[in-house]
Amino acid sequence: MKKIFDTVVIGGGASGLMCALRLAERGVRDVLLLERNDRVGRKLSVTGNGQGNVTNTDMSARHYFGSGRETVAAVLKQYDEKWLVGEFTSLGGLFAADGAGRVYPASRQASAVTDLFRFALAEREVAVRTGEKVVRVRRADSGFAVQTASAEYRARALVLACGGKAASYLGTEGDGYAFAESFGHTVTPLRPSLVQLKTDKNLIKGLKGLRCECAAALLRGGKESARTRGDVLFGDGTLSGDAAFRLSAFCAEGDLLRLDFLPDHSQDMLVRLLAEKAARMPALPCGELLRCIVSGALARCLLQACSIPLQMPAGQAQKKLAELAGAVKGYALPVLGTLGFEKAQATKGGVRMEELTARLESKKAAGLYIVGELCDVDGECGGYNLQWAFSSGACAADAIAEKICG
Ligand SMILES: Cc1cc2nc3c(=O)[nH]c(=O)nc-3n(C[C@H](O)[C@H](O)[C@H](O)COP(=O)(O)OP(=O)(O)OC[C@H]3O[C@@H](n4cnc5c(N)ncnc54)[C@H](O)[C@@H]3O)c2cc1C
Repeated sequence: MKKIFDTVVIGGGASGLMCALRLAERGVRDVLLLERNDRVGRKLSVTGNGQGNVTNTDMSARHYFGSGRETVAAVLKQYDEKWLVGEFTSLGGLFAADGAGRVYPASRQASAVTDLFRFALAEREVAVRTGEKVVRVRRADSGFAVQTASAEYRARALVLACGGKAASYLGTEGDGYAFAESFGHTVTPLRPSLVQLKTDKNLIKGLKGLRCECAAALLRGGKESARTRGDVLFGDGTLSGDAAFRLSAFCAEGDLLRLDFLPDHSQDMLVRLLAEKAARMPALPCGELLRCIVSGALARCLLQACSIPLQMPAGQAQKKLAELAGAVKGYALPVLGTLGFEKAQATKGGVRMEELTARLESKKAAGLYIVGELCDVDGECGGYNLQWAFSSGACAADAIAEKICG
């Protein structure tokens, strides 16, 4: 007779690793973790520019989007950032927050977090099969049948932890959405999130590599549709950094991105400052007008955008100063799209959260649990997506363990 696992977890990423480990810790004996890559945690190991920003000290549901805000709040309340750091510490790691509240392993190596899981799973003798791509899932008897290219597995409970569609080169091509749909779940529209914006490279010429703190707003049809504040990092026709990433899930081609490079100062004050400077030093080259106000590269770019020659004496530019101050306070760049799912860090949209219980069990198929990025939950940049993955994986594990072990 075919072996029936207590639980099969599909996906050895952040949520699946946490789920499998917690199931074992809670006494669920027969757990099988299936991962299509040749090793677990490939994405986890490259997070946070390889440093692994696993959570944030400022943790709450207001940092998340999607249909699941209430569920996120409830899950995070129980499995918060302190709980997470406690878990990792109990596995032998040391974690610390930077000045912005972003929590990293003290070694600043994301792969070390994956290693904590690998060793803990091996110690608890959890069956981990890599190189096993699940191709189909279905109801079988009172449980589930999970089909891979080489085998079929049976399970009493099934956890979909296959991630979203972002960065498919790391193994996430969106397989989980089809699995969830096969049980009758709805998948809300999917969009790349936390991804570079594309813009006209001529308008940001000379700025490559520059990082600025800005207030950034998206304008659609002349109306502001989203705004945020944070870093913008200029690339070769692209914009990244916190602020650009945050807006990426909300933008559409044809939008305008308005950057305010001096968010703490008014435009009137800036016009007065420039006018006084030009009156006091009429021979000063215009290239010097914004010195000590914005960076030199940005000053040159903005002067060029206002057609003010760098060598023109400031005394001759009095009529252009309001326009220059306007460019500093609201430089408009056309949004030409994003770099898409391949470069995205997260997926906006996913399995509709109203179709899951507060413990992340499917309301369509009892015994099926859906966790991590597959859910219609996406967080801001700063450790929020990994926290959701870990918290949701643990939440589902506890629910399964209570059913199986009481
Ligand atoms: C470059 C990058 C940097 C990031 N940095 C951060 C950061 O610093 N902080 C942060 O909070 N978030 C970060 N994120 C986002 C975060 O990594 C994800 O939100 C999180 O990993 C999602 O966890 P998950 O378990 O849902 O999915 P994943 O971690 O993507 O894991 C899903 C797993 O399922 C496997 N799988 C998929 N389909 C199948 C199948 N059919 N059969 C078997 N296995 C399958 C995949 O191979 C994968 O291993 C980053 C993302 C990227 C791409």
